[in-house]
Parts: sequence; structure tokens; C-alpha cells
Amino acid sequence: MDASAPDSARPGRFSKFGLTTWIFIGLLAGILFGVLCNLMLDAESGLFQVGVNGICFVLGRGFVRLMQMLVVPLVFASIVCGAAALGSGTMLGRIGGAAIVLYLFSTLLAVCLALLLGQLVAPGVGLDLGAITQLEVKPAASSTLAETFLNIIPANVVNAMSTGAMLQIIVAAMILGYVIGSLGDEVRTVRQFFTEFNTIMMRMVLFVFAFAPLGVFCLTAHTFANTGLAALVPLAKYASGTLLALALQLALVYSLLLVLIARLNPQRFFRKMLPVLGFAFSTSSSNATIPLTMETLERKIGASPRITSFTIPLGATINMDGTAIMQGMAVVFTAQAFGVNLEFSDYLTVILTATMASIGTAGVPGVGLITLSMVFASIHLPMEGIAMIMGIDRLIDMTRTAVNVTGDAVVTCCVAQRNGLLDRAVFDAEDAPAAPLATLPVPQ
Ligand code: ASP
Repeated sequence: MDASAPDSARPGRFSKFGLTTWIFIGLLAGILFGVLCNLMLDAESGLFQVGVNGICFVLGRGFVRLMQMLVVPLVFASIVCGAAALGSGTMLGRIGGAAIVLYLFSTLLAVCLALLLGQLVAPGVGLDLGAITQLEVKPAASSTLAETFLNIIPANVVNAMSTGAMLQIIVAAMILGYVIGSLGDEVRTVRQFFTEFNTIMMRMVLFVFAFAPLGVFCLTAHTFANTGLAALVPLAKYASGTLLALALQLALVYSLLLVLIARLNPQRFFRKMLPVLGFAFSTSSSNATIPLTMETLERKIGASPRITSFTIPLGATINMDGTAIMQGMAVVFTAQAFGVNLEFSDYLTVILTATMASIGTAGVPGVGLITLSMVFASIHLPMEGIAMIMGIDRLIDMTRTAVNVTGDAVVTCCVAQRNGLLDRAVFDAEDAPAAPLATLPVPQ
């Protein structure tokens, strides 16, 4: 996978600033412009109606629709490719199975943590976006527990795609990918097709992200022109709630897994992992961090290369606990901001979809926001919520990526310990000097 980010794409295109900076500028300019409109213009005036509720609304919504356009093909192609790679490997035995189960389990815990904390922080309370957005907020259709589970199985794949039934799409993609993988060379052309299609989708993400500064400007201007400064506090609560949930995932969930399953001292583990966390934080890319994660696990923590060479690239592809946390908190934020009442079955759907979205999220910057729309779609939340948080996503992306890679490392240690592939002497020893970066393997 191309580890280049939307951010680093096409250098020079955004003159001396990167795309992230432009998105941030779009956010600040949108807030400023919106607040000024709120203070200086009458909401009934022609200028307000044409400028804010006309131009800003149409351009902002247009950008949101562009993002939505990507979701189904992006997730489908990414999951088919991931599952095909697994099906063909000989490692899909005991070690692979255990790693996948633990990856899914840790992601499940991560979403639950975010949803719980979301209830406490209540990030969207006090922000009435439903009143200012000219779209109908469809309440999620409530269903029984049995229906929720049955709805995961697609009766008609084409229908699932056209209605954006994400869990069904994911199940279909996983089965297709698995079968493609198990048929091996017999279906080389189809496999190649999906790999290339996946590459095209990643490029389309870059294309759409090029409009993000303008889209974010229009959406925030529209919101702040209608709400005034009232929207700032909920946004700050969303950011701090997410960061807190990410910290708890590190301090509680991972520490427990390390103590109970890997039988490692969490303090020593995190000390040795610090450079990896720093690298993931600064690049916002699990993929780009793969070499350093593997090197640290092998040379400083004592995990065998036989296990890291498989579980780390796999984790960077399918395990995104930090991303799932952001998605859980974003669901609570948006539901509260739009006054959508979520039922128990909706929470269940969010837990399942966010866990699956983690598999469909590529380990490069920003993709978690795209797969967030599939979580929103699964319970009919309006996509405007994503645009609201997009402007402040970079810091959260950096932090959640650090959590994503830590999750990969923790699960690797657990599986290594259970299979006798963890050298405790290496873990207990003081740090070995790091290998020069030039000798590290390059992620694909
Ligand atoms: N940047 C994240 C990663 O590479 C993915 C995301 O949540 O956007 O792990």
C-alpha cells in the first residue's frame, strides 16, 4: 500500500503549505467568517440566504457527497484485497487465527470504551445542528437483536451496495476475498484487478481530499454563521473526549492484555515502544511505521521475526483500535448534535460496523474519516458531523495512529508469548542499540 498520505501527496500543489495546513486554515477561516456573518448579518437577509445558506451550503454538501461516493468501492476493494492475502498464506493457522481474534477483540473494547466515555463527556450536547441543517435527519430504524444479527448477512449484494448497507458489504467482501485467496493462481487476473482497483481508490481519496480545505471552510462557515460561537465548546469536548479514550486504551486495555496474556511489564514495554509511538504520531501512518515496529519488537522486546513478519503487517492493515475510538466518539458527538436518539441496537450496529471499518481502514493518514461515513451510514447519521470534526482531525489522527500501532505490538506480544516465540531475556535486558534505519525492511 502506498504509504504516502493525502497530506504528502503532490508536493507543491498547495504552494508552501501542506494539505493538512490548508484544511486547518479552512477550518479557522470558516469559523471566523461564520461568526462574523452571525454577528453582522440578519439571518433573513438576502446576503445571508445566498452566501451562507446558498453557496456555502451547496459547496459544503457537495464535498460531503464526494466523500460518500468513495466509501462503498474503497471499503469493498480494501477488504477483498486484505482477505485474499490472508487466504493464500500458509500462516493462516494457529498464529494467524489467534492474532485476528485478539485484533478484533481489542478493537471491540476500543469502540465500547469510546461509546461509554462519549456518554460521560457528552460532546455534542448543546450543539443543535439539526435546527440549522436543511436535511431531514432520518432516525435509525429500530430493530430487534435477532434482526440486527440477521441484517449482517446480505441477501442481495447489489442491493446492499446501492443502499450502503455496510456490514453486508463487508461480509460479502470478506467471503469474496477469502475465496479469491484460496483459489490462488487460478484466479490471478481477478486478484490483480482488485489490487489495481484498490490503488485507484486510494488515488481517488487524494483527489477528493484536494477539495477538503474549501469543503471544510464552507461547512464550518455555514455552521458557525447559524450557531455563532456556541459550536466551539462541543468541538473541544469531542477532541478532549477522544484523546482521553485513546489514553485509556493505552493505559488500561493494553496494560491488562500485556499483564494477563503476554506476561510483560507494561511500563518497560511502553518505554521500549516510545520511539515507535513517536514515529507513528509524526507520520500518522501505521504502514510507514511497520519497519520500526518490527525492529523494536524483535530487538528490544524479544518477539520472534517468525511472528512479527506476519502479525505486524496484518495489524497495520486490519487492526485500528485508535481509529475505532475516534469513530465511536464521532458517533456520539453527531447523534447528540443532531438530536438523534440512539437505541441499544444502534449501539450494537456501531460496535460491529466500527470494528469492521477498522479492517477496511488503510494504514495511511486520514482514511479513518472516510470509513467513518460507513459507520454513520449504518445508523443513518448525517454526514455533516464528519465535516464538523474534519478540521481538527489531524491531531487526533496522529494520536490514534500511535494507538493503532501499539495495539498491533501488544497483540503480537500476546500471541508470541502463548506460542513460545517471545525471548524474555531480550525484554528484560536494557535497550539494545537500534539498527540503522537504512537496514530496515520497507513496508509494501
Ligand atoms: N492514520 C491511521 C493509521 O495509519 C488511519 C486513520 O485512522 O486514518 O493508522
